[in-house]
Amino acid sequence: MDNREKLLEIKDLKKHFKIDRSNVLKAVDGISFDIFKGETFGLVGESGCGKSTAGRTIMRLYEATAGEVNFHGENVHAKKSKKELKQFNQRMQMIFQDPYASLNPRMTVKDIIAEGIDIHGLVNTKKERTERVNQLLETVGLNTEHGNRYPHEFSGGQRQRIGIARALAVNPDFIVADEPISALDVSIQAQVVNLLKRLQKEHGLTYLFIAHDLSMVKHISDRVGVMYLGSMAEIATSDELYAEPLHPYTQALLSAIPLADPEVERSRERIIVEGDVPSPINPPSGCRFRTRCPFATDICAQAVPEFKEHKKGHWVACHLYDEKYKDNFPAAQK
Ligand code: SF4
Repeated sequence: MDNREKLLEIKDLKKHFKIDRSNVLKAVDGISFDIFKGETFGLVGESGCGKSTAGRTIMRLYEATAGEVNFHGENVHAKKSKKELKQFNQRMQMIFQDPYASLNPRMTVKDIIAEGIDIHGLVNTKKERTERVNQLLETVGLNTEHGNRYPHEFSGGQRQRIGIARALAVNPDFIVADEPISALDVSIQAQVVNLLKRLQKEHGLTYLFIAHDLSMVKHISDRVGVMYLGSMAEIATSDELYAEPLHPYTQALLSAIPLADPEVERSRERIIVEGDVPSPINPPSGCRFRTRCPFATDICAQAVPEFKEHKKGHWVACHLYDEKYKDNFPAAQK
């Protein structure tokens, strides 16, 4: 039995968008996973796989079509009163991919950071407000004099620090970081990741860290979930996922990451996934990955693979690992 404290429990979460009378885009189509207190859960997949929609639905920026998001044991999507939602908003914050687009260009940095402090009435005087903002600026590695400037006066990395200070201002427990380093130069990415790690330790934060490639989440995540076309393909601890990926999609994502050693890089076998992600309006029958999977057989078009625990803490949705279907894959017995 796992005795880690669950901060979030996501159960069969769905977010569908109605396109027109007959078409529904199933951006998130029944994902389930837990996030433990104090951990970083990395959520990875190609663009269009539903990872950002999942993050926003968990935060209740989108209403869920079905399913539950239990935060400290309470279903976020069942909350109705404004007061309850406000309390909840304070405890869950978000950091966005594009730090410039997410900062109001007409507001000073000090007012951007203090917005949440004001909304939630976290200080009593102007002096306290200034002190709190200055403290947050220093916490994220900026100077207090930066508070009087406007977002356009900062570099991408500094703007992301402002976004982090804004999220931190209301003392949240949980932060959804939606591709927070994708828009930054490689040299700056490590600095922002290190800052997030330090803040996690100092403030006891729990993160959902969304990224489009596995190399980005490797150093920050304790566990990683891989999404494909609105569903969860695999979940494991970060170390195990990198050492022993089970799902063919995860294997392909990993083999696309170049290795530092040119010898090993030249000699390794790559799993190439061809083609684009199919439309989530009309996903393939059975396993959603079957149109791009090098191991697909007839059964993959007929039956939806169950998301099963292959070994402790390592979950995968693929018929290759299902006893029931082992005869369907004579060439790939595991
Ligand atoms: Fe590939 Fe079939 Fe496994 Fe899907 S169920 S990932 S198509 S082998």
